[in-house]
Amino acid sequence: MRRGTPPSHPFFRGYTPAVSRPPIRNLRAVQRALLRWHEAHGLRAPWRESGDPYACLVAAVMAQQTQMSRVMPSFARFTAAFPTIGALAAASPGDVIRAWTGMGYNQRAVRLHRAARAIAANGWPRDALGLARIDGIGPFTAAIVASFAFGEPAACVDTNVRRVLARLAGDPSLDGAALQRIADAAMAATAPARWNQALMDYGARVCTPRPKCGDCAVARWCPSREAAGAPRAADTRASYRARPQTRYEGSPRYFRGRIIDVLRSLPPGASLRIGALPSRIANGHTPPAPGEVAAWLTALEAQGLVRVRRGRVSLPE
Ligand code: SF4
Repeated sequence: MRRGTPPSHPFFRGYTPAVSRPPIRNLRAVQRALLRWHEAHGLRAPWRESGDPYACLVAAVMAQQTQMSRVMPSFARFTAAFPTIGALAAASPGDVIRAWTGMGYNQRAVRLHRAARAIAANGWPRDALGLARIDGIGPFTAAIVASFAFGEPAACVDTNVRRVLARLAGDPSLDGAALQRIADAAMAATAPARWNQALMDYGARVCTPRPKCGDCAVARWCPSREAAGAPRAADTRASYRARPQTRYEGSPRYFRGRIIDVLRSLPPGASLRIGALPSRIANGHTPPAPGEVAAWLTALEAQGLVRVRRGRVSLPE
């Protein structure tokens, strides 16, 4: 983050500029070691290599709630369909939702499309604050684009980064504004993109929920390290315990996703009788009640994912 950035925007809620001393011990050495690790082991991805803001935006939106192994092929497919921000902005919502096939969390496609239209109309804001003001872009995505594409030292704090920094600071329960302050203070301002990437990758591959402390490049400075890489007692704490998985198959979220999948399978511009939906989305489950389907359609229409007219439903074209 640039010094003097006004802290009033929600993106910086809780931010206190007067961070007198980074809470991570031997910060410079930690930065050097993690940047070196990233040089040798970091993820190589087209948006990282190019630093193209459009590619960074698409990848950042895709990477939310989706594993990188699934992002890679989807990113290639999506950017082949819409190679520029202008091409994406000019597409119909239905085309964008169809191109989002296989990614899940379809509302991200609508938000990305909305953001693309705003950027195509008004140009790229070149900092995280300006990017986060665009409808459809959240603080994490804004920080990715600002640092990867425009070189701004904006800290990207996702689950992996939060875990690495909290452990390096010696308090795995750190979160929220306190964690954001640590991330801002730890930012390697001379290499913001590489530093953000290094932290994200390190949390995904080494400082994982069950950390590989025995292989860790910064273990000697880490107050949370454990002997010889054995699983840490701290990882059984509530903050790192695996959350119980709720059943997805047959859940309302599953059926809402099925509605979009069924509509995607129609030719562009075609619609389906609403009464036909329960059996079309059942997919081996008990068909949901028409009242449930109606409520889901209302929610999906409010999210911009479907269009309901005169008893028929389609993607918004
Ligand atoms: S020593 Fe362990 S807990 Fe500390 S940063 Fe390395 S992997 Fe994470």
